[in-house]
Amino acid sequence: MLILLNTYPLLVSQNLVFKSKAAGMTSSVKVIESALSGLERLTEENVGQALSGMEETGVSRILVTDTAGRILFDSRESGGAQGLYAFYTEVVQALRGNDAVFCTYNDAAFISRMASPVVYHNQIVGAVYAYEYDAEQADLFKSFQSNLLKISGIIALAVLVLSVVLSRVLTAQIGELLAAIRHVREGAYTHRAAVKGNDEISQIATEFNSLTDRLQTTENARRRFVSDASHELKTPLAGIRLLTDSILHSDDMDSDTTREFVSDIGREAERLTRITENLLRLTRLDSAVVPEAQRVEVCPVLDRVVRMLSMVARDHNITLTHQCDPRAAVMATEDDLHQILYNLMENGIKYSTVDGFVHTAVSVEGHTVVITVEDNGIGIPDEDMAHIFERFYRVDKMRSRAIGGTGLGLSIVQDTVAARGGTITAAHRPSGRGTVFTVTLPLAEGGDAQ
Ligand code: ADP
Repeated sequence: MLILLNTYPLLVSQNLVFKSKAAGMTSSVKVIESALSGLERLTEENVGQALSGMEETGVSRILVTDTAGRILFDSRESGGAQGLYAFYTEVVQALRGNDAVFCTYNDAAFISRMASPVVYHNQIVGAVYAYEYDAEQADLFKSFQSNLLKISGIIALAVLVLSVVLSRVLTAQIGELLAAIRHVREGAYTHRAAVKGNDEISQIATEFNSLTDRLQTTENARRRFVSDASHELKTPLAGIRLLTDSILHSDDMDSDTTREFVSDIGREAERLTRITENLLRLTRLDSAVVPEAQRVEVCPVLDRVVRMLSMVARDHNITLTHQCDPRAAVMATEDDLHQILYNLMENGIKYSTVDGFVHTAVSVEGHTVVITVEDNGIGIPDEDMAHIFERFYRVDKMRSRAIGGTGLGLSIVQDTVAARGGTITAAHRPSGRGTVFTVTLPLAEGGDAQ
């Protein structure tokens, strides 16, 4: 841009000067020519006479030559060149009958030369040569040139300062962001990048911060999970240890007590198995490698679960009822559906009160299968409602443990439902005490029911 700024205007104005010079010279030469037009032959005398009354022509020097190029008239006052020969290119051209104009510029002046033939009755009788040396305009031109240079210098300086400042600001922002990324990479999940303004880098910083938020949430969940899991595994192990120690260190333990202790050890081992099985199931669900879905009719699975739980329900004096829309089919595995129904219905029985009921209903609404499991049990307090699907969360730890709960059942149900594109919600029973769990799953299209 600066090179263009320093060349194009100069070239254009130089051209304009040349054009105006050529026009000025032509008119001056024509004036002289017309003064000489009546002369049949040019001599020093008649040319001198013809031009003696001439006013200022506006050019620096005028020469008039005869056909041989001998100078007959020179406008220069001192040191005139009369009698010498003018073998300038322009004169030679003029004597051949052509007008010749030549303009040039050197550092000091605009120099223009022009020659034109003097014609008498179609005969070339001589030539007029004009020469101009214009230092004034050259000065103007030079100051224009130096002004352009100064302007370019100022622009270059401004651009330089601006780019240095901008790159500093930019690299400082990127540097901060990089430092934040390194901090987080090293494990400081609470660290956040400072966000200033609304430019692209700030937007990257905002995105990075929200990414770190998620990372922190996941990391917290992971830590909580590991600590909860180890705690859950530690409790039955400590129980087993205590029971074995008691058996080993008491010499006179009767066989009934020993049997009781050993069966307690068995129960604790069973609990460990249940926890590890549930943990394994959750890990599989987390790894996103879900077994391939197939069309599963809901009613037969529900019948099977009801049959399995009917004994337990009878022991607890709970009425287990169910109704099922035969059109209900979902894309999942039988095991998934079994897990969902079994965990929800078993919870209904586990957290029941005397003379309770657990009612399961399966219906089809549009393209959705809706499963509700309703009980009139102890219910879930409002403050716990939001957490019951979290891993190892129990409203009443003691009660859950006492009845063999692991705190993982609802997490498994939620993850299984989500893996099959469904939703699960828990709510208070609309009429009276108890809880309603509602699962929705996409209806499997096709099959007999359609
Ligand atoms: P658990 O193995 O302890 O039953 P879950 O994940 O199945 O674990 O359930 C989490 C907690 O939610 C339970 O400990 C219990 O406090 C509460 N809960 C689940 N289902 C019911 C229900 N039907 N009625 C009352 N409370 C329930």
